[in-house]
Amino acid sequence: MGNPTGFLGIKRKNGEKRHVNDRIRDYKEFENTLLPGELEKQASRCMDCGIPTCHSYGCPVKNRIPDWNHLIYRGQWKRALMILHSTNNFPDFTGRLCPAPCETSCTLSINNEAVSIRQIEKQIVEKGWEEGWIQPQPAPVKTGKRVAVIGSGPAGLAAAQQLARKGHDVVVFEREDRIGGMLRYGIPDFKMERWVLDRRLQQLKAEGVVFETSVDVGVDISGRYLLRTYDAVVICIGAMVPKNLEIPGRELQGVHYAMPFLIQQNRRNAGGTIPEPEVITAKGKHVVVIGGGDTGSDCIGTSIRQGAASVTHLYYQDIPPEERPLCNPWPQRPKTFKTSSSQEEGCNRVWRYMTKTFVGEKGYLTGVKVVELEWTRPADGSRGTYTEKGNSEKIIPADLVFLSIGFQHCEHGPLLMDLKLEFDKKGNIKTDTTMMTTVPGVFAAGDAELGATLVVDAIFRGRQAAEGVHKYLTT
Ligand SMILES: Cc1cc2nc3c(=O)[nH]c(=O)nc-3n(C[C@H](O)[C@H](O)[C@H](O)COP(=O)(O)OP(=O)(O)OC[C@H]3O[C@@H](n4cnc5c(N)ncnc54)[C@H](O)[C@@H]3O)c2cc1C
Ligand code: SF4
Repeated sequence: MGNPTGFLGIKRKNGEKRHVNDRIRDYKEFENTLLPGELEKQASRCMDCGIPTCHSYGCPVKNRIPDWNHLIYRGQWKRALMILHSTNNFPDFTGRLCPAPCETSCTLSINNEAVSIRQIEKQIVEKGWEEGWIQPQPAPVKTGKRVAVIGSGPAGLAAAQQLARKGHDVVVFEREDRIGGMLRYGIPDFKMERWVLDRRLQQLKAEGVVFETSVDVGVDISGRYLLRTYDAVVICIGAMVPKNLEIPGRELQGVHYAMPFLIQQNRRNAGGTIPEPEVITAKGKHVVVIGGGDTGSDCIGTSIRQGAASVTHLYYQDIPPEERPLCNPWPQRPKTFKTSSSQEEGCNRVWRYMTKTFVGEKGYLTGVKVVELEWTRPADGSRGTYTEKGNSEKIIPADLVFLSIGFQHCEHGPLLMDLKLEFDKKGNIKTDTTMMTTVPGVFAAGDAELGATLVVDAIFRGRQAAEGVHKYLTT
């Protein structure tokens, strides 16, 4: 441990966010970094716990958090970077995007503020790029084995990098015109600017990974063809089938799934144009976002940047408690009240209202008819039940609705049908402990086998799949 009493005297600090009035004028990242000297102090708050719950329980990639906190306090940045990379291929992605379950499970967070783990992670990796310490690591010896990775989100990229470094010849096939999955066209630039992704792709290319874009596997080439021509296949196609709200008025112009809206803005930010009839814009509109999570929050931030007249975030749930309820103790991820950076930018959050119908005129949406719910919450704070409150129906005026109520599972399209893969009961691809599917030589990783989750989980599963493939090819 760097400083045994650090946590007693030093307050938690993160990089300041740009002021709301400034950041909503562009799509650039909103979080600044800590000044030199401040980060070392933050690292010194780590108590180097005997059982570091940040690492063992909280962090999906099992980052060796107390080790790099100690090294940063001692000023040993290069070693800290090496340890960070030993468990995570892309700390520059997670340092920006991760909701940091490590922090909510940090021992300090029991009665104090957690160590600023995500901030420290981000600044270690940024220093690594600045100093030129992050270089391609091509495999010294090639195995002659060929692996096809399908899908180029964080799971596919992590699998590809790990496999290339083991000496396999890796080709990543991607349906979109650019590489990155949700990191390219899903997540807004204000959470992660795309140069962060692009510099990693340069590293992967220099390590020998080949990228083939605009190839819809299962349509442009068959899964069986890949099985014949490659020694192993890793399927990392995400979980992109959205959940629908099948209520009257769903067909009205103005009711959209969240993703097409977000993808359009990300394409514009990348210099692309959207054909006029397909354009979805929030400019001057009253927007209602239904459903929470990252996707809902990203619709809010994007609508505000586009100049929406108003943004309402609609939840049917009860307002979460400020403190952890009894049923949700540390170190679990807390189900407490949170405000995302996009919500801070100016949305009206409406709780306990269920959407009944979309209302409109001449085929166009004009509002959302909702009913108030009465929730009863058990004493231990668990979820409880609800009933509809009589005579509480009202209409929230709306020109645009974004449905962000989650994703069902991966697409059960021609690729998976062709390969005859089995699914679990949620519709995700079934895998064993080595990440192999029910078809020998075919592996799966990320949202496709976990269901929609986080970037950090996708990276971890991509790494695990690479491990499974390597064993399969070499034993
Ligand atoms: C709007 C939004 C915001 C999010 N924000 C965050 C966040 O802030 N933090 C966080 O941790 N997580 C966030 N997530 C979740 C995170 O993005 C995902 O968990 C993660 O990207 C999953 O990675 P993946 O590699 O499994 O799949 P994806 O990133 O979904 O990539 C799958 C890729 O496969 C390609 N593909 C699909 N089918 C085929 C085919 N047949 N042939 C070729 N290619 C194919 C797709 O085009 C896509 O590029 C967010 C998700 C969304 C939707
Ligand atoms: S749980 Fe918190 S204090 Fe303990 S080792 Fe991890 S970061 Fe340090």
